[in-house]
Amino acid sequence: MTMSTETTNPFKAVVSQINATCDRLNVKDAYRLRLGKCERELIVNFPVKMDDGTVKIFTGFRIQHNDTRGPSKGGIRYHPDVTLDETRALAARMTLKAAVANIPYGGAKGAVICNPELMSQTELERLTRRYTSEISLLIGPESDIPAPDLGTNPQVMAWIMDTYSMAKGYSIPAVVTGKPIDIGGSKGRFEATGRGCMISANLATKQKHLSLKGATVAVQGFGNVGSAAAKLLAREGCRIIAVSDVKGGTYNSKGLDIEALLNHSKETGSVVGFKGAEAMTNAELLALPCDILVPAAIGGQITAANAAQVKAKIIVEGANGPTTPEASKILCDNGVFVVPDILANIGGVIVSYFEWIQNIESFFWEEEEINDKLQRLMTNAFTEVLEISQAEKTDMRTAAYMIAVRRLVSAMSIRGIYP
Ligand code: NAD
Repeated sequence: MTMSTETTNPFKAVVSQINATCDRLNVKDAYRLRLGKCERELIVNFPVKMDDGTVKIFTGFRIQHNDTRGPSKGGIRYHPDVTLDETRALAARMTLKAAVANIPYGGAKGAVICNPELMSQTELERLTRRYTSEISLLIGPESDIPAPDLGTNPQVMAWIMDTYSMAKGYSIPAVVTGKPIDIGGSKGRFEATGRGCMISANLATKQKHLSLKGATVAVQGFGNVGSAAAKLLAREGCRIIAVSDVKGGTYNSKGLDIEALLNHSKETGSVVGFKGAEAMTNAELLALPCDILVPAAIGGQITAANAAQVKAKIIVEGANGPTTPEASKILCDNGVFVVPDILANIGGVIVSYFEWIQNIESFFWEEEEINDKLQRLMTNAFTEVLEISQAEKTDMRTAAYMIAVRRLVSAMSIRGIYP
């Protein structure tokens, strides 16, 4: 398999893309040097009592990449393979995403090296509460606001909010987003990233003279992002022909019943073994002939080794960093229309922004209003990126980076320090 620095080091991949954008925009070195580093990096090693009475030491991170445009914002990942560089890359992507969405946030990310699938709820709760207390040096409603990511969910956000509030002595819902609605979560947040993917897919089909109605779709990952994207795309008339998760995939050329698949996945813990469908590997799913491919699992899935086999006309990057820079070039050369992660999956951070505003104002909005506002912000962002890509005769990823870097450089310049 072809390996490269970009594939093995996700932070270097983002920085190389930022540097290439700075070259293109003639950005002074002082700015690129700042964007090439994370502003604050906290590593924590902390004990958690396990159910069998033993004590394990876990390692976690909280990283703030750049807060020039506002408080840092970014999810928390629980995954056995998460690294410091991956967390740095995800924090940098959050800075870029907030700039593409044009919302007043900087970028952050947190992570704990653990396997939530092998832990009980009580172990996860103790881990989350201790991790929250360790990173409470950095997080807060005005400084750094976590949200769910791979391996975390609204319940984890509730434990973070509770632990943080206990230390302060009063309820502070705005410290996290993606909370359950009963403690200040926002309507529409759970599905927001998947909804943003659906909106992106809809806008992208117009560029390929297709329509969502009848379009064939393959989705990798059936968690928060993948399942919501599949459900909403099916509702728009797409035929979801394949879906996968970490255990494998399921395929039916006539289309899968997504509601029934959601129930099957809830009951069995996987999409594998779904009645009336064929088994399929993740590798096969990525190479499936279809109109739209939605990678919505983990990073580094489409690489130089398999990019040429991708037959989808459109890729909507629900996951963060699913495509390596080399693969990105191959897809571009092959005419695949790629909606990059820093545009395709901003639905989550946009509705997180709405949740934070609702928490600060203690005034809650109806779901219809939230979905309308999301639709408007996503459409604005997509249109701005598309216009730059057409004017500059470049791909959507390069155009999205150009918008983000321009906005960040402008903010840094207005705030001073730089010549
Ligand atoms: P999740 O934990 O809810 O679901 C992840 C899914 O991916 C699961 O179905 C899991 O089985 C599958 N998966 C894990 N490893 C896999 C592998 N090696 N091969 C195939 N499938 C695998 O996570 P999520 O919140 O849906 O996040 C998915 C991706 O979307 C991540 O890259 C995350 O950073 C990104 N993202 C999430 C949000 C959000 O709001 N949750 C926002 C923006 C981007």
